Amino acid sequence: MDAGSLAMAATDDIRRSVRDIVLTHAHLDHIAGLPLFIDDLFATLDEPVRVHALQDVIEVLERDIFNWSVFPKFSEIDAAFGPPIVYRPISFGCEFQAANLSFRAFGSDHKVPSAGYIVSDGKSSVAISGDSASLEQLTIAAENQKDLTAVLVECAFPDEFETIARNSHHMTPAILGEQLKKLDDRCPVFVINIKPNYRQQVVEQISALQIKGIEIMNVGEDYFW
Ligand SMILES: [Zn+2]
Repeated sequence: MDAGSLAMAATDDIRRSVRDIVLTHAHLDHIAGLPLFIDDLFATLDEPVRVHALQDVIEVLERDIFNWSVFPKFSEIDAAFGPPIVYRPISFGCEFQAANLSFRAFGSDHKVPSAGYIVSDGKSSVAISGDSASLEQLTIAAENQKDLTAVLVECAFPDEFETIARNSHHMTPAILGEQLKKLDDRCPVFVINIKPNYRQQVVEQISALQIKGIEIMNVGEDYFW
């Protein structure tokens, strides 16, 4: 899910096994690792890397990243098995498979075309907000999801940066606290996508809200649902 630091953080096992990448949107902190990931794999690939994304996001990737000027247009290169990157356009509300998981996209409230997802392995499901200024669409999408076991939500900026957060369509702890009321304590909430420079402030402000069942997700830790 997303590829902001995919190439930089990938282990050999990830390089060997990840062939499906699902993108929320085209902002650089969500795609920066994608070109280098494909490049690192190029010599060893024997099947394409499938990128599942909104058509708007695919167009940005092809126009602004994989355009020969910034990076090779892998979708036009003919390797032995075909192009090293293939795009799978997704639509809101439609289910699709990526690896062993099924995904259903919903619109997130961000500055650019952007999706959040309900992700399911058939036994339990997790809702992921993507970058979003509200949880409106996530709440609607998760409404009838009886096996929902976790919700992952962004909280990019601390409360002091509310204006920047609202202008760039992100959440602060205070906004998140308000938005979570819509979810009605349904399941544990994990906070992701905190801007690294403000992590400490955001963590303290979320903790001060004393919301039941909320946890900051740690980078590098495994979670099982
Ligand atoms: Zn963004």
